[in-house]
Amino acid sequence: MLLKNKKGIIFGVSNKFGIAYAIAKSLHEQGAEIAFTYANDVMKPRVEPLAKEMNAKLLIECDVTKEKDIENTFKEYKKIYNDCDFVIHSVAFANKEDLSGNFSDTSHEGWNLAMSVSAYSLVAITRHAKPLLNKHASIIALSYIGSEKYVPHYNIMGVAKAALEASVRYLANELGQNEIRVNALSAGPVKTLAAKGIAGFNILLNIDKYRSPYQRNVKLKEIGDTALYLVSDLSTGVNGETLHVDCGQHCVAISKEEATLISKIKD
Ligand code: NAD
Repeated sequence: MLLKNKKGIIFGVSNKFGIAYAIAKSLHEQGAEIAFTYANDVMKPRVEPLAKEMNAKLLIECDVTKEKDIENTFKEYKKIYNDCDFVIHSVAFANKEDLSGNFSDTSHEGWNLAMSVSAYSLVAITRHAKPLLNKHASIIALSYIGSEKYVPHYNIMGVAKAALEASVRYLANELGQNEIRVNALSAGPVKTLAAKGIAGFNILLNIDKYRSPYQRNVKLKEIGDTALYLVSDLSTGVNGETLHVDCGQHCVAISKEEATLISKIKD
């Protein structure tokens, strides 16, 4: 059991098809004790059975845009678990209208909302988790390649993910003094609740599949197991990293399929 006697908290479980659930499952199977949060009343009945399935001792509402909620979450967490070995940040949001069309049309309000939920929340969560974190604790945030390169329609979320990854590096340096590590896990596309908000997401999935050296999309279990590695003591030397779990798609500039297609076009 890689995570025997390890305990921590996960933000962002939505349903069985989400990345957070896959991560929770991989951690739980290796012996971790996990506290769960949910965003609001709508999410509570969806998350409740999943938390129960993993014998969670804490299931608590936490809208990550509310400092008070985050503060209260860790207050309640401390009462039950006392200390913490891992924090999983698997939360993101942007208005639907900001996930299509021209990036220059992003409203100031939409920008602030996406940045607040998807990037600043990691900083606020870390601040409140910090007093409880044990030596060798691990913090993970979920990112996507749209932070590094242009992806159609990803728009404001690409900027938010870039801010998230930069925040990971700054937090990694701050918390590293106590050998606590902070890493980003940059996952390939998966059809989840959040992903459905991105215009043309099915096309993105297909492009990813054809560009990937494996000729397929990443599986949820592969993302969960990579998080397991980052939480386990196998990764104590890995800090401030953005680790891609996308079957190698991030390293492709021109895929075999694109080359074949273009070779058929006469100049
Ligand atoms: P998801 O819908 O399952 O998860 C998103 C979660 O964010 C939900 O649980 C939702 O309730 C929560 N959330 C939104 N606003 C919130 C708020 N104000 N307070 C608290 N929680 C809030 O979708 P997912 O795709 O599994 O997303 C999980 C993470 O993985 C996100 O950071 C996402 O950007 C990232 N990611 C997703 C993909 C993908 O293709 N699906 C790829 C790479 C990275």
